[in-house]
Amino acid sequence: MCGLVGFTGHTDVVYDLILGLTALQHRGQDAAGIITFKEHFRTRKALGLVSDIFQERHLPRLVGNIGIGHVRYTTQGSNNVENAQPFSANYPFGLAMVHNGNVTNFVELRQRLYEQYHILPETSNDLELILYTLASELTQKDLKNLSTDHIFEAVAATQAQVKGAYAVICIIANYGLLAFMDPHGIRPLVLGKQTDANGKTTYAFASETTCFDYLEYETLYDLGPGEAVFIDRDFQVHRRNCHVKQPAFCVFETIYFAREDAIMHRRLVAAERVRMGRMLAKKVREANLQPDIVIDVPSSGYFAASGLAEALGIPYRRGFVKNNHVGRSFISPTQKQRDDVVKKKLNPIRAIVAGKKVAVVDDSIVRGTTSKRIVRLLKNAGAAAVYFISAAPPITNPCVYGIDMAVSTELIAAQRSHEEIAAYIGADALIYQSLADLQALYADLPGCYACFSGKYPVDGSNELIDVVAAERLEQR
Ligand code: SF4
Repeated sequence: MCGLVGFTGHTDVVYDLILGLTALQHRGQDAAGIITFKEHFRTRKALGLVSDIFQERHLPRLVGNIGIGHVRYTTQGSNNVENAQPFSANYPFGLAMVHNGNVTNFVELRQRLYEQYHILPETSNDLELILYTLASELTQKDLKNLSTDHIFEAVAATQAQVKGAYAVICIIANYGLLAFMDPHGIRPLVLGKQTDANGKTTYAFASETTCFDYLEYETLYDLGPGEAVFIDRDFQVHRRNCHVKQPAFCVFETIYFAREDAIMHRRLVAAERVRMGRMLAKKVREANLQPDIVIDVPSSGYFAASGLAEALGIPYRRGFVKNNHVGRSFISPTQKQRDDVVKKKLNPIRAIVAGKKVAVVDDSIVRGTTSKRIVRLLKNAGAAAVYFISAAPPITNPCVYGIDMAVSTELIAAQRSHEEIAAYIGADALIYQSLADLQALYADLPGCYACFSGKYPVDGSNELIDVVAAERLEQR
């Protein structure tokens, strides 16, 4: 799950890059980086949060009217500064790149780059493989007369070779800013623009429209499966569907990853979560549950909880106080850190939950350990009964497209029955969203549901899952 931004305008873009990354901080907290271009690439990247890495004294060096930025959430490669993005290559022209996602044919690509082009990637980051594959394809073109068609042909050839989920932004030095998607369009990327009082336009790519609200940019459109957009040095926008397959947008973006105020594929994420919550009322009634109140696990469960309360006709209450100065638990690297985060982050409000039958709504249940802790907190605070409600269906299969759910042994729904999960987390009842209901909400937007259904859109995903599982076993 990483966050990307890229800007091309008429003046320095470093402030927009930093503000854009700040608005995307929820998508990754391990590292952040920026590259701008003016005569040469100017880079700053480090481990940590955007506000810690970029301070006033760093800004004079990061000049240039074109730049890209990244916040990192580690899935592929270790969490060290060598793996922090952006990456750059000095040939051809000078390329600098950021991406969000995960390459699934990592070994095959490494081998091909070495055997065909004698390139040895330096890190374990899969971005390097995309960067060098694109660089290798561009070098096949007439570099003295590089055209937009050449660029799109190189993108199509890259997309044909690189399997997996990826949204990419790339500076081609002295030529322009390029963005492209994997053939299924699994990860999000959106184009926006801002025109100043003199009629000069700055274009921006970002993982979420939240950046554009922050910076007062106009949202133009989401990039589609296999699409590439190139903004040339004259600020002309070129679009092409380069290598397109069956669309499979990650539905988990709407359930959890994206910020509530983001608009993805013309849908407000908050409104989608309310719809998911309303849908859950049917299952609560079928189970003959009669909660007194609905509360949420802050804050990603809020909109689903309010939708459920509205549909059941019972009060929504804030049952937990959240300490906002502690990071998100799901993206903390180890289980111990995740547990500590939950403990420090949430405190139940005893006067609200004591003596009540409480329906507590969370976005999903991944490992079950956080849910168990939530139930215990509520019972210790005097709740008469706790009904645990997941806005997502059971996660029964790993994700190999850039989300930290890569092995089924870590997924409680892959290991235990419904009753066993309820008993493990200590809930008096457990309700999951049904996959059919979730898919019905998105009948007009073909999505990836692989972590719920096991049907992977990208060829070779099952083989990678086996490799990752074997690696994890070895590490134990
Ligand atoms: S497997 Fe699940 S988390 Fe991964 S891309 Fe598909 S829907 Fe998203």
